[in-house]
Amino acid sequence: MNIRICLPGIVSVALLAVLMSCNPAEKYYTVSDFQRTPKIDAHFHYLTRDAQYMHLASSLNFKLLNPNWDGPSSIDEQLAISVAVQNSFPHEFAFFGTFPVDSFGKPGFTSATIARVDDCIKAGASGIKIWKNIGMVLQDHDGRYVMINDTAFSALFEYLEKKKIPVMGHLGEPRDCWLPENEMIDPGAVTYFREHPQYYMYLHPEAPSYMAQINSRDSILHRYPALDFIGAHLASLEWSVDELAKTLDKYPNLKVDIAARMNPVQYQSAINRAKVRDFMIKYQDRIIYGTDFEVHDEPGLDIEKVKSNLQQGWLDQWIYMTTDSTLGVKGLKLPAAVIDKIYYKNAEKYFR
Ligand SMILES: [Zn+2]
Repeated sequence: MNIRICLPGIVSVALLAVLMSCNPAEKYYTVSDFQRTPKIDAHFHYLTRDAQYMHLASSLNFKLLNPNWDGPSSIDEQLAISVAVQNSFPHEFAFFGTFPVDSFGKPGFTSATIARVDDCIKAGASGIKIWKNIGMVLQDHDGRYVMINDTAFSALFEYLEKKKIPVMGHLGEPRDCWLPENEMIDPGAVTYFREHPQYYMYLHPEAPSYMAQINSRDSILHRYPALDFIGAHLASLEWSVDELAKTLDKYPNLKVDIAARMNPVQYQSAINRAKVRDFMIKYQDRIIYGTDFEVHDEPGLDIEKVKSNLQQGWLDQWIYMTTDSTLGVKGLKLPAAVIDKIYYKNAEKYFR
């Protein structure tokens, strides 16, 4: 605007056009910026009290957000670990708590759930995670699958919205989950669903469809417009940046993390790199970097190997996002200002 005031109209328009086309201020990161650039992995499962992985993360300028989830690993133990790690690393570690659904349908479920949310927040949680067991596993006493937009959860969502408690929702699964193996776009999905056939919905046609999962989540976004909602795993719309863009446009309160969905992103960018790159730039304020990497205790575990895998995994994704190098697929080379938002600024508020 200052330029317009200082110069005659036509010159200023021409100058602006030049500025926009060559964009001399556009900066890019390189591989060598990886270590020193502040970063957040906003979807990292920290399931051990061992501080070594925090030390590794800190040495690479990574902060970690640990979303607790109502899966096979005890949620009380996850909470206890989260509190312990946060006490040791108050500025570098944050977590989202979660709640059990064992007593769903019994009297007192809502009040117990809200009490659990309060306990998590008092313990230091920055938000609450909701997992795919709702929609894909939990059934009511008539054997019907319970979806996230079930009225039994209304009071909970009203509470979360009113108290401005952020929610991370891993609802549904990649669309691959409902497809035969030869139609899947993510080779990782083939492996995952072979190992977890109970979650491979192609084998369970009696369970709710892919669109039923998406629609029930969307109805939460519609009903609670002030809810700070992170759609984990690209909001289960990983297969199409076009579909994801439509959903982001429709629900201004939605943000998404990329955790464990780099493969479908790369699948799309190998076909149309400009489209995926434009998507990342357009929605730079609403995309959050995360990996879904996990660390845990295990007898005989080669900890050095785990650490080097973590570092390599983070570095490979950095190279894809920040450079145009080809590691399997040509990188997106996003501008540094966009990287700073995706890798740090968009998740910064979840940390102390
Ligand atoms: Zn996860």
